Amino acid sequence: MTVEDGDGRPRRRTVAILGATGLVGQRFVERLADHPWFELVAVGASSRSAGQTYARACSWKLDTALPDAVSAFVVRPCVPREFEGVQIVFSALDSSVAGDIESEFANAGFAVFTNASPHRMDADVPVLIPFVNPDHLEAAFAQSRASKNGRSGFIIANANCASTGLVVALRPLQQAFGIDSALVVTMQAVSGAGYPGVPAMDIVDNVVPYIPGEEDKLESEPLKILGEWRNGAFRPAEMTLSAQCNRVCVRDGHLACCSVKLRRPATADEVRDALSQYESPVAQYKLPSAPASPIVVLSADDRPQPRLDRDCGRGYTITVGRVRACTLLDVKFTLLSHNTVIGAAGGSLLNAELAVARGLA
Ligand code: NAP
Repeated sequence: MTVEDGDGRPRRRTVAILGATGLVGQRFVERLADHPWFELVAVGASSRSAGQTYARACSWKLDTALPDAVSAFVVRPCVPREFEGVQIVFSALDSSVAGDIESEFANAGFAVFTNASPHRMDADVPVLIPFVNPDHLEAAFAQSRASKNGRSGFIIANANCASTGLVVALRPLQQAFGIDSALVVTMQAVSGAGYPGVPAMDIVDNVVPYIPGEEDKLESEPLKILGEWRNGAFRPAEMTLSAQCNRVCVRDGHLACCSVKLRRPATADEVRDALSQYESPVAQYKLPSAPASPIVVLSADDRPQPRLDRDCGRGYTITVGRVRACTLLDVKFTLLSHNTVIGAAGGSLLNAELAVARGLA
């Protein structure tokens, strides 16, 4: 394994977080505090925060304590020369600025793992979910080989937070039965909008049936993720997706109701078995953040629920329940994913762990 030095000890990579003060950035700080392969050495954010200590610049929102070591870090501006000596950069930048900044870092030779949307549909950027499409890592190898200045930087994206749970649940069905089409209705947590995010006056005692740009992402990104990387190009999966996205008054955890039309007939029991028996295609790498199972199927009629189930597998596991026949399509179920763990920072960590295990980073 490339993660070990000659003496068998883990070889730690130095890592930094761009956009470290936001909600996803905070989740990175939390999950990197005791990471066996990665050592957090620097944090970056906007000019509003740069020059201040992390503790002062950031309004910490997680239940866990802000790690002491990071609280004293001085926040840096997000320019590559400020991050010399760093090997891996995790981006939790606001999407309005992420595209250019991430390109600058990749061009300067950094391995960039991003949560932001601007590069997701680039022709050579994989939207990687190790539980789903680990072979798409080849696109990042291709980027690295093709880098013009010999610096071998690259960008790997993770999916939109709502797309992530959906594709993890659809992958076993695609493999077992084929998918013709799917209809998904989401109920997305407020943390999905970042901090401060949705005003309290809009969301308390309410549901907002519109999240700008979200339905387009949910109807397009999964096709790239569930498609193929072949002969140097992505070929999208041939299926049709229809999405309706709602913001609900839940702190963390995106719930989604999904109906699927399969290409080959299957009973609800067969679909439940395909979901519960699904094994991670990267289990052999023993990635430190990987949960025991990518999917857990719950049997109680009223599960999954965000408050009760979002931390399954430390937030890395998708929970699925209510698998049953659909009167309109073939089968329907409810799924839940933790939007800032597997849907964001945790997803990026898994991607970076896979890249290290495969010798790319
Ligand atoms: P957020 O709470 O609004 O945080 C945004 C971060 O970007 C802050 O650290 C902010 O720094 C920084 N930033 C803003 N403008 C900047 C600039 N000009 N230069 C450098 N840094 C700048 O957002 P979030 O929820 O953490 O989301 C971060 C990214 O992940 C977004 O692209 C989002 O779409 C994506 N994402 C979020 C989720 C989720 O569930 N929240 C899930 C998947 C993907 P300051 O504090 O200094 O302003």
